[in-house]
Amino acid sequence: MSTPDAVVVGAGPNGLAAAITLARAGRSVHVLERADAVGGAARTAETTLPGLRHDLGSAVHPFGVTSPAFTAWPLAAHGLRWLHPPTPLAHPLDDAPAATLAADLDATADALGADADAWRFLTGPATRDLGRLAPDVLGPLLRWPASPVALARFGVRGLPPAAWPARALRTDAARALWAGLAAHAALPFGAPATSAPALLLAAMGQRVGWPFPRGGAGALADALAAYLTSLGGRVTTGVEVRDLRDLPPAPVRLLDVTPATFLRLAGPERLPAGYVRALRRYRPGEGVVKLDLAVEGGVPWSDPAVHAAGTVHLGGRFEAIRTAEADVAAGRLPAEPYVLVAQAGRFDASRRAGDLEPVWAYAHLPRRRVGDGAAVRTLAARIVEQLERAAPGLRARVRAERTWGPVDLAADNPNLVGGDVANGAPTLRQLVVRPNLARVPYATPLPGTYLCSAATPPGPGVHGMAGVRAAEAALRWDSARTASGAPGTRAARPPR
Ligand SMILES: Cc1cc2nc3c(=O)[nH]c(=O)nc-3n(C[C@H](O)[C@H](O)[C@H](O)COP(=O)(O)OP(=O)(O)OC[C@H]3O[C@@H](n4cnc5c(N)ncnc54)[C@H](O)[C@@H]3O)c2cc1C
Repeated sequence: MSTPDAVVVGAGPNGLAAAITLARAGRSVHVLERADAVGGAARTAETTLPGLRHDLGSAVHPFGVTSPAFTAWPLAAHGLRWLHPPTPLAHPLDDAPAATLAADLDATADALGADADAWRFLTGPATRDLGRLAPDVLGPLLRWPASPVALARFGVRGLPPAAWPARALRTDAARALWAGLAAHAALPFGAPATSAPALLLAAMGQRVGWPFPRGGAGALADALAAYLTSLGGRVTTGVEVRDLRDLPPAPVRLLDVTPATFLRLAGPERLPAGYVRALRRYRPGEGVVKLDLAVEGGVPWSDPAVHAAGTVHLGGRFEAIRTAEADVAAGRLPAEPYVLVAQAGRFDASRRAGDLEPVWAYAHLPRRRVGDGAAVRTLAARIVEQLERAAPGLRARVRAERTWGPVDLAADNPNLVGGDVANGAPTLRQLVVRPNLARVPYATPLPGTYLCSAATPPGPGVHGMAGVRAAEAALRWDSARTASGAPGTRAARPPR
């Protein structure tokens, strides 16, 4: 078999998106994936009972329907179908109706009563600007933006800590909704720029929704792989790359791996000391404990509004969620954790087995406790307690359960080391320095070798944009090399 123009290590959403970008530019591409299926942290499998399809990583995909790449590519022709639940998000409260994020700014705001105007002021600009913002916020921050005015408006609201805008909100519902959005970052609410992910998630929900791929996250990965194959790309699963020297001698190499894995594969002794130091300084995020539950008849939420939501945030009021996330940052197990729940099976018959629905739930585990099996079990029990609090009778309906602690997650996918779902804490520093401070953060010191995982901009989420940007950088390098007539160059096929 001839040597391809490019090799991609890792078939996560970013690896696949990188491969597609290269193939669309006429390059021959070979993807090598360690697991026996594509998708990385966007896979779906039967992990509890036969026929019941659980998402192994991502479940909810606002980034998928915002991604400039995924929305431009013909993924529907390769089997992708987005399912939109009637309500993107619900946030149950103990003694009050659940707060909801509707798929429409005014509907969300109007339901927040006294906070309607404050919510519009806070989330309205990002919601309206989303289409213009997407190329800028889903890319490296150190470059001239395509829409500077929209980005500046976003920055004014997004750069403050999540605790600040909450002061302008008066109702428990609006404050809780904001807290649940901000807590996705797994950072304390006093940390700079923790408003940014909350704003982006709200804007996406109110503009494009928080859908599920029919069949689960794995269906999105399968559609990406099928599109890649249609462009002539090859994918080989079940191959773990242990040393870059084992790769076919392709001029371009894209690596959908963690910075620590890159150092191991490249060999630190073969890299400049400054680059090795930068990668070693890169800080992981908190861990998670994830539960796959097989629930007969679905979750019996006490508030009927929650049944219409695809995603549910548990943890109660703003103050309770702030405390839970502060505990995690301080290395303590939260007594009442903030829990993300997805109930795709309610809206997707292909995920169910008879009356059984797959329920996905996870909570943040302090990084210091990732190797502590007792802490994992305690947090798993507290996740179920939080579910039972909003849905009395849930426990009696659980027919099977699988707990994934950090060790299990990393064994399944080495990019989830320490159970860190973000491949590096999404702090303000690490949104800019991801994983090192450079104009092209994807480029490594090895010629033609680029990092393309969520440890590069724009960071976590199933959008594929780290892969796209890294591949674009690699194509620029390769075109310059070809134009210079460097030895071993050959003409690429015409772009598609
Ligand atoms: C529990 C959980 C919940 C999440 N929820 C959401 C969500 O709801 N919505 C959302 O948008 N995002 C979510 N995310 C985050 C999202 O899944 C990731 O940000 C995204 O998958 C990152 O894509 P990636 O391609 O960078 O890495 P990954 O998806 O992790 O893929 C990396 C791939 O590279 C392979 N690989 C690594 N090293 C090697 C090697 N040496 N040789 C060969 N192959 C290798 C791995 O096996 C893996 O398949 C979640 C993640 C987790 C874990």
